[in-house]
Amino acid sequence: MLNQINGLHHVTSLASGAQSNNDFFTKTLGLRRVKKTVNFDAPEVYHLYYGDELGTPGSVMTYFPFPGARRGRPGAGEVSMTTFAVPKGSLPFWADRLATFDVKNIKPETRFGENRLRFEGPDGDGFALVETDDARAPWDGEGVSADYAIRGFHSADMRLRDAGASAELLRFMGYEQIAAEGDIIRFHIASGNGADVIDIETLPGASSAQQGAGSVHHLAFSVTDRAAQLEVRKALLDTGWQVTPVIDRDYFWAIYFRTPGGVLFEIATNEPGFDRDEDSAHLGQALKLPSQHEHLRQTLEERYLEPILD
Ligand code: ZN
Repeated sequence: MLNQINGLHHVTSLASGAQSNNDFFTKTLGLRRVKKTVNFDAPEVYHLYYGDELGTPGSVMTYFPFPGARRGRPGAGEVSMTTFAVPKGSLPFWADRLATFDVKNIKPETRFGENRLRFEGPDGDGFALVETDDARAPWDGEGVSADYAIRGFHSADMRLRDAGASAELLRFMGYEQIAAEGDIIRFHIASGNGADVIDIETLPGASSAQQGAGSVHHLAFSVTDRAAQLEVRKALLDTGWQVTPVIDRDYFWAIYFRTPGGVLFEIATNEPGFDRDEDSAHLGQALKLPSQHEHLRQTLEERYLEPILD
């Protein structure tokens, strides 16, 4: 069993518009945009990152907004919900706030004894807030006070037809099963950064998800540094997984592999972080391009990347 993984690092999803995506995460949810860059593999598309003050691993929601992209179709083989941690007693505030911002399908629920509030993102994305005791410092710079502000991820749900092989993989990665309720099995990692939980929902009869706007593209797990990442990579390869080489994403190094249930996993380093190329006071404001795409700056800004009004 691996001991290098520290919970979630980031969750990356698809959106249909940069402005609506930006407004939802900064103005409605009160997160900080910590990086405005492009998809390194398709630089005509933004890659937007939202999180706490510095984009601490375990707090970072990221998006590829493809202008006008069709919505995905929910189903099996995907991350069906991303859940953020908020302080105990804050859900009434959030229910009011989300309604004020005209957020769709707001629904209170209870899971494993915890109070949650489900809601949808601008493209039908599955989200929830859960009340927990969470010592992580929130970002309160967008007008949501620290008494209510999001602390980071609590968990992600994987919706699968069969949990077996993915459960085995999570155990190999250092997670243990701590609870089961209805169709859901809960996994927890003891050495986590706060974003410590993965819930697997098993729906044997579900049709396959179709990726599109509002779908999660991949789930990234955190390791401290490149040495730990190489250990994880070797262990995965030795166990028979097809893992990519290490890829430089400027703000972290990444490896990817497809899990048996269909969800794409990434292992990302905590180094070097989002303040490597701009000072922390101005994080996320300027368009940052990786050096291999810097020569495209003018074309990208004039022809492809819609201006984002803050
Ligand atoms: Zn990623």
